[in-house]
Parts: sequence; structure tokens; C-alpha cells
Amino acid sequence: MDEDHDIFSAEENLYDSVRKNICTCAVDMELTADIEELLKKPMREIHVSIPVRMDNGTIKTFQGFRVQYNNARGPTKGGIRYHPDENADTIRGLAAIMAMKCALNELPLGGAKGGIVCNPKKMSDGETERMSRAYIQALGPFIGPDIDIPAPDVYTDSRIMGWMADEYCKCRGSSHFEVITGKPLSLGGSEGRSTSTARGGWFTVREAAKEMGLELHEVSGHLNENNSGRKKPSVAVQGFGNVGYNAALIGKESYDCRIVALSDSRGGIYNEEGFDPRSVMKYKKENKTLTGYPGSESITNKELLELDVDIMIPAALEHVITDENAGNVKAKIVAEFANGPVTTGGEEILLGKNIHIIPDILCNGGGVIVSYYEMVQNLNMDHWDEDYVNKRLDGKMTRTYNKVLASSKLHSISMRKASYTMALNKLVESMAARGWI
Ligand code: GLU
Repeated sequence: MDEDHDIFSAEENLYDSVRKNICTCAVDMELTADIEELLKKPMREIHVSIPVRMDNGTIKTFQGFRVQYNNARGPTKGGIRYHPDENADTIRGLAAIMAMKCALNELPLGGAKGGIVCNPKKMSDGETERMSRAYIQALGPFIGPDIDIPAPDVYTDSRIMGWMADEYCKCRGSSHFEVITGKPLSLGGSEGRSTSTARGGWFTVREAAKEMGLELHEVSGHLNENNSGRKKPSVAVQGFGNVGYNAALIGKESYDCRIVALSDSRGGIYNEEGFDPRSVMKYKKENKTLTGYPGSESITNKELLELDVDIMIPAALEHVITDENAGNVKAKIVAEFANGPVTTGGEEILLGKNIHIIPDILCNGGGVIVSYYEMVQNLNMDHWDEDYVNKRLDGKMTRTYNKVLASSKLHSISMRKASYTMALNKLVESMAARGWI
């Protein structure tokens, strides 16, 4: 067994899952062992301790990471997560996923991911701002528009990106807002960026639905509630952050689906007739939970994943569908709006049940694609309208989805393997062109 024997152990972390996917493709692509080795390791990791003055006067030291996985195709790109369970292996896996996502979508960017071990729900705005600024000060020499460009991810948003962009500019004494994407519009953020991960995910679900013979009704204008006697496709969404909420909203308002289940980290709600996500969001803001939403039945996050729905959208954290619960998943389509929600063992079981999985690097690429559009606008001092952003995004994601689908059919391989193989081919091509291999 090689040094990576741990990746075949029962307790698989996200970095293990990604390396397993790389290994499987490398064999079929006949990559040499040294190239495979390079593809399975991050090129640079930065670990920082961030001292932050808390509101009560004490100093708390937070642990932060930034993993720059591979920059063969250009500066590295990827989000920053704030989570109490953050750890280096998860960030490594997420950074590798970003490298694959950017290569698959033919963006001139590499992959990275960052994180801080913290509990954002228990921090004041002031504490969060000081921590975010201190993280950027610590990463200062290692990020930049031509080095590594952060963005929002789990529990980070445009407001935090605004503080971070400001901190970077202050440290440099210049106005390089393009160092970060997902910024507020007033600092050069892109129209459509905040909904882009969810909107892009739905473009791939729309294509997958055609493939699975599931009738999706795309609504251009206002929804007419009375216009059809047909049974609307049912959707369950796990997670009610930026991606989960917008996934539910777009599913209902742009694709006329019934959003029968929703959840956040505390638990979920179910209603066979479907929810209005706007009204659920209002309830959550007032009550800090989804539980107790009028007319709903309480369910657990585990029960949500096992519902008999047409489309299952995990839009929260990694590794929620594993070999333990995959056997109970009944959806026709599992669309990975989150990064890494299905383990390799879980995937085998889902595939055995003919469930169509839209893998993360394909399904949730909309976020980084519009981040790239944001960079293009910033570097050209330009501003595009939302319709233009969404149309470009649709064109790109639809083309990529259909290329992956064709390759998956041609070679009788899973959608994930087809996506990874396409991404790895691009990455290897760039590494070869640079003379690395
Ligand atoms: N956090 C998003 C992702 O996981 C977007 C990253 C970016 O825009 O750089 O794809």
C-alpha cells in the first residue's frame, strides 16, 4: 500500500474522497505515478493564527487556513468558510474541488479554499469584522488579483467580502477590488453573483430533467398559479443559507416546482403542497429557526434526504449522503449544490439505484463562473446587467453539462467520473504547456 492507504479507510474525509476520484480517473487516463502524485497534493498551504480583540476585552486566537491547490491554469480562486468544525483536510478537499471546477468550466483560474475555525453565530458584527480583517492581514502577501482571489462560501457573504477587499486595499495602499469576488455592488460586485450558484445549479437540473424524462416548466415572467393541472415536480432542499434559499426560490419561481421540504442546521420542515421560500425566510428571520413554520410538519435533516421527491438538492455541507443512508435516498436526481455532499461509498449506492447525480464541480460551478465575470468586469472597469450575466452563465453551464453527459454516455462512466476526467485533462494540458510535466 502506498502512503495514501488512509484514503481507503472507513472514515473518509473530503480530501480522501477527492483523491479517490483523482486516482480512479488517473488510471483510465494512463497518467504516470509522478503526475498523479502532483495532482493529489496542494501546491501551497498557509496556516495562520489570528488574534482578535473580543467585545469583552479578551483576546481570542482563531485558527485560519488557505489552501492553494493548483495554479497551473492561472491565479487560484475559491471561497472562505467560517465554521466551528473547519479543519485542514476539509479545506484541502474543497480547494481541490475548486481546481477541478475551474478547469472543467475552462476558466483561466486555479483552485483554492480558505477557512477559519470559529462559530459565526456566536460572534458580534464587530468581532466578525475584526477577525475577517485580521485574516486578510495575515494572508496579505499570499493573495492578490494575480495570485489568489477569495470569495464567499459557508457563513460568509458580500458584507464580509467588502471588509476584506477594503483591508487588502488599505494594506497595499491601492484600489485592487478585484482581489476578492462576491463583493457588494457598490465595490464592483457583479449583478447576479449572489444568486449565481443556485441559478447555475438549476440550469444543470433543467438539462438533467430532460434526460430523466421529468417535465420542468420554465417560467419567464410572472408565475400564474392556476395555469396547470399537472403535478408539479417535487423538490427537497437541505440548507437555507445563500445557496439553499436561492435554490428553493428559483425552483419555485423560475421552474414552477413544489418545494416540499426545507431545512437549516437545526432541522427541517415538510409540506406536500410546497412552501413559499420568501415567506419561510421571513419566518426564519423572526424566529431564528424554520421549525414551527405554519402548516408544516417538522422533520430532521436525515429524514429530508430520504424523502420521496423528484429532485434532491443538498445545499449545505459535505458528506451528508454516505454508505449509511444512500440506500434510503429515493430522489430521481441528486443535484450537488453543496461541495462534496456525497461520499464515494454513498455515490456507488446511488448509482446502483439509477439516481442521476449532478456532481458538484458541474452543478455548483455558477458561483465561480460569475466570480470570474466579476473579475473581468473589474479589470475592464465595466459593469454588466443581470440579464447578460445570467444568459452567459446559462450558455456556459448548459454546454458543459451536455459535454459531460455525452462523455458519460459514450464511455459508460458516471457523471462525476466524466467531469473529473474532462477537468483533469485540462489541468494536465496546462501543466504540460508550462513544462511542469
Ligand atoms: N464558494 C464558491 C464555490 O465553492 C464560489 C467560489 C468563488 O467564487 O471563487 O464554488
